[in-house]
Amino acid sequence: MDKTVKIKQSFEKKYRQGYPLLTEEALVSSGKLHEEGELLQVVTEDGDFIGYGYHGRQNKGVGWILTHREHEAIDQRLFDRKLIEAVGRRSAFFLDETTTAFRVFNGEGDGIGGVTIDNYAGYYVIQWYSRGVYQFKDYIVHALQTYTDCIGIYEKKRFAKKGEYVEDNDFVSGEEAPSPLIVKENGVNLAVYLNDGAMTGIFLDQREVRKMLMDHLAADRSVLNTFSYTGAFSVFAAMGGASGTTSVDVANRSLEKTSEQFRVNHLPVESQKIIVDDVFVYYKRATKREEEYDVVVVDPPSFARTKKTTFSAAKDYAKLLKETIALTRTGGTIVASTNHAGLSRKKFRSFIDQAFDEAGHTYRIVEQFRLPEDFVTLEEFPEGNYLKVYVIEKLKAKEA
Ligand code: SAH
Repeated sequence: MDKTVKIKQSFEKKYRQGYPLLTEEALVSSGKLHEEGELLQVVTEDGDFIGYGYHGRQNKGVGWILTHREHEAIDQRLFDRKLIEAVGRRSAFFLDETTTAFRVFNGEGDGIGGVTIDNYAGYYVIQWYSRGVYQFKDYIVHALQTYTDCIGIYEKKRFAKKGEYVEDNDFVSGEEAPSPLIVKENGVNLAVYLNDGAMTGIFLDQREVRKMLMDHLAADRSVLNTFSYTGAFSVFAAMGGASGTTSVDVANRSLEKTSEQFRVNHLPVESQKIIVDDVFVYYKRATKREEEYDVVVVDPPSFARTKKTTFSAAKDYAKLLKETIALTRTGGTIVASTNHAGLSRKKFRSFIDQAFDEAGHTYRIVEQFRLPEDFVTLEEFPEGNYLKVYVIEKLKAKEA
């Protein structure tokens, strides 16, 4: 028998319209939830049926609604149906031989909040965002084995605390992937590691931004890539004919990982600069030396603390942009990105405005990006549409 939980009357409309995330504030007595993974029948205060879901703690939520069908049980068939639908929606991706890494299942966007599945050239990586959703592992692994051509399956458990990764052997079943595994994205090679910690080496949600850099932004331009991680933006810029790239990341591993991404594309590593340093420290030096770049990519994490600096996107992005503007040639372009769900599009726009205002320059937004098509989101759940990327041209100085 499922546990019954009631939605407060003031939240009823939102849930009837399809809002999938169960939150403490919306439930009449969330204290009733004890065991992660337990199944829930969600009803209104009057006892009208809204849906079935499960209990799992993750960020702001305490669970997800999985179905609004009163006669549907949460069993293997439900997971099969959701996976088949998700795969069907992405048939164009499965057919595209120039891009072999993409998201196959995007949590609530595909009907099961708390879990995502990515395809890396036939090896699938499942990410579990709560202990609760992890209870469905057998169903989901079985569905993958039955309805996809997966060669091997890996998993990332992101529920140690607040979405943190549980250090573990991530291999689940099938064949193990080579290390590195080379995947393709719009014809470009990318080296990924499926069993080497929380991250694989690329962020699949930036695919369209990388393509834009390669296809029509980087040619004959000098490109500075900050918070560069494995240098994916730099590699696409170089593939697009950049006159030079400079990648800056504070993590020691970024030097070897970035060199590797160039090598697997047969690009000469010697002509690319890879700098291991704190971006804010690097900015000070670069400003002193009056360095200028034609294109600067800024894609910081939502929060970061290094030995020397702390950064919070919601608080410090305007300042970061202002310093970025100083290093960008007038007429040059800044690609400003944030994946912080807590920083709204509107607020991010106001940061851009503020930064250029303080820098004393005019600007023009040339293009903007959101999540790509394989990162399916729900209109009823705008928080899930977290990626905001603006391509901004730095124009002439403001007249006094
Ligand atoms: N833009 C990258 C992803 C960035 S992930 C891409 O598209 O692939 C965030 C990166 O920021 C991490 O590699 C981390 O090491 C780095 N980082 C965090 N704080 C930093 C700082 N203050 N200076 C430089 N790098 C930083």
